[in-house]
Amino acid sequence: MSGSTESGAAAASEGVQVVRLGEADGARYELDEEALRRVLLRPGVQELPAVVVSVAGAYRGGKSFILDFFLRYLTAPLSSQLSGEWLGKEDEQLKGFHWRGGAERDTTGIHLWSEPIVTTLANGEKVAVLLMDTQGTFDSESTIGQNSTVFALSTLISSVQIYNLHANIKEDDLQNLQLFTEYGKLVCEAEGKAFQTLLFLVRDWMFHYEHAYGFVGGAELLSKRLESKPNQNAELREVREHINSSFEQIKCFLTPHPGLTVADKNFAGCIRDLTQDFRSALLQLVPALFDPDHLTPKLVNGERVRMQDLFDYFQQYVGIFNSGEVPEAVTIFRATADACLMAAARAARGVYAAHMGAATGGACSHTARALQAAHSGARAAAAHAYSQKRKLGSQEDADTKLEDLLKELDGGLSKYILENEAKVRETMSRAKKTYDAAVSS
Ligand code: GDP
Ligand code: MG
Repeated sequence: MSGSTESGAAAASEGVQVVRLGEADGARYELDEEALRRVLLRPGVQELPAVVVSVAGAYRGGKSFILDFFLRYLTAPLSSQLSGEWLGKEDEQLKGFHWRGGAERDTTGIHLWSEPIVTTLANGEKVAVLLMDTQGTFDSESTIGQNSTVFALSTLISSVQIYNLHANIKEDDLQNLQLFTEYGKLVCEAEGKAFQTLLFLVRDWMFHYEHAYGFVGGAELLSKRLESKPNQNAELREVREHINSSFEQIKCFLTPHPGLTVADKNFAGCIRDLTQDFRSALLQLVPALFDPDHLTPKLVNGERVRMQDLFDYFQQYVGIFNSGEVPEAVTIFRATADACLMAAARAARGVYAAHMGAATGGACSHTARALQAAHSGARAAAAHAYSQKRKLGSQEDADTKLEDLLKELDGGLSKYILENEAKVRETMSRAKKTYDAAVSS
């Protein structure tokens, strides 16, 4: 089954870099807050639960290339999603995120597709799909710190992390997951697991007579690789033992080589140049990824993360990865808990504003007492909304955040008082004009 999409990738849509290597110090990452806001705070999208699909892995592994097929699928009409026509015309160039065959790499960092795609879950709920392209992980030119940063950031922020691998799942590839299994152990007391979906996407799989292309062969390979064996290095054994408690779902998909023409200088991504096996793999993989029954919204502690809330997660995570060393799991946990509190406070602020809007909106002025009563009611509703949200971390932090929020709302009452006074003056001046007109006639 396919999801129905409601927004096409307009001509102006593009990959937008939101995380980049800082200029001052080559090892530090910078968040482009303006660019991030433009993507996350789009009208009609900012309030929706986010499904964040990231592709991460080595440079020149075909990450951007496959993301462009995701885009094709997501922006195709339902009929062509169902018929398979979404794959494109034989001679249609592949566009979207920048992919290339050259020897130089694209800018290190994280790119988002500028237009999140609104789609519908099987239960009818609307969600926004955010596609995330990463660059800089495990490149030969990057330092260890840089390698793990982009991979870690994208794993922490996404709800579907596609770990793009060449030819096989190797021990090193599993080693890179160590930080997340440690973090996962910390989170496992909370509601749900730390992460949602991890998909090992093995490209150029050569042993299809041993394990067939697709999800079935992938599952076989994965279970072999995750099997614990005696004499294994302790860290890797930990990863193998805990990976299932960190991710709600772990899958593996094996893709064939796309065909020798992909190495050609003039290859433009047209499907006429792709082997039948590779096309079949795309036709199996992509619709399964975005199947409304399996789309995974981003959850933190069991709470949906809305598009606008992702901003805090980006900010928190980039912050901790900029502190020099690779952060420890407990630092990530605190950063997540902080962003989670910010999201709860933002939702509560929205409740307050909605209540005040309903009580004081319109042209009529209100008495000071009525205004105070509206504020008290709205404040209580906001506090209730805040208390209903599941939060990570200590109760003390949650209480402090609530106190700060209530102080902020109390402080904001003066804005409503000023607006009300303006309405009173307006009413009086109108009344005076009416009176003057009546007297002079
Ligand atoms: P990225 O750096 O991981 O984003 O890689 P790109 O998407 O820019 O692709 C790099 C090169 O790999 C391009 O020339 C693609 O045509 C080619 N390519 C795409 N998919 C595959 C694949 O599955 N296998 C192989 N061998 N090459 C691929
Ligand atoms: Mg790329």
